[in-house]
Amino acid sequence: MRIIEPHIHMFSRTTDDYYMMAAAGIECVVEPTFWLGSDRTSVSSCTDYYEHLITVESARAIKYGIDYFTCIGHNAKEANNLTLANEVVDNLEPYLQRDRVVGVGEIGFDLITDAEEEIFRRQLKLAVKYDMPAVVHTPHQNKRVGTEKILNIVKEEKLEPSKTLVDHNTEETIAMTLNAGVWAGLTIYPITKLSSERAVQIIRKYGTDRIMLNSSADWGYSDPLLVPKTVTNMRLAGFSKEEIEKVVFHNPYDFYKQSPKFTFEK
Ligand SMILES: [Zn+2]
Repeated sequence: MRIIEPHIHMFSRTTDDYYMMAAAGIECVVEPTFWLGSDRTSVSSCTDYYEHLITVESARAIKYGIDYFTCIGHNAKEANNLTLANEVVDNLEPYLQRDRVVGVGEIGFDLITDAEEEIFRRQLKLAVKYDMPAVVHTPHQNKRVGTEKILNIVKEEKLEPSKTLVDHNTEETIAMTLNAGVWAGLTIYPITKLSSERAVQIIRKYGTDRIMLNSSADWGYSDPLLVPKTVTNMRLAGFSKEEIEKVVFHNPYDFYKQSPKFTFEK
């Protein structure tokens, strides 16, 4: 099974993880920027991180035969330091124009504050300006309210639904996300949040159109093989090869292919 992992934080993984991911069929990863486990205190610690992903992390992936792309943006959690966050966003544009940068992300809401909304809207405007896809993080608390707000803001800022990927959906939000016409990500975790089994049930109920799977695999309890493991669970649940491949390969391909810098070949 050919797999594209559309949202994974390889910065927090080892090279052994790359080796296992390649062996499990992952041919391409997209890494959105995120919180690094501690808050940053200067713009340069953000821009150093962007530079690291574009150059060092991509080389690390390619060494294992995995094609690598990134999305650059300022995460919601750190948007609450509004002065720094605005300064970071002031410095984003040169990075959005770099090779291998195929989107703006991940952006969105954490605690659903006014500061988060301001930084989210500024970055959506950049996605529109550069005609790039955006990867949007929905909050883990008050998910329904936060997702509703996100979908309204995306509409107000006029980012095309086809260029919007709303991640971290659950049973609570999947219908409203799909009804908004945007792409829906199911972020799978080994213990907390959404399990592989629940993700399979959601796909059984809502079908395979505009849905994709990812493992995020960041600093918390996580597993970079959860997309290939969910392929197995979908197979056991009776999904056809075509249905599975659509969710783990063709859908993420079609979403990111909207960026001319996504040069991965089918
Ligand atoms: Zn993430």
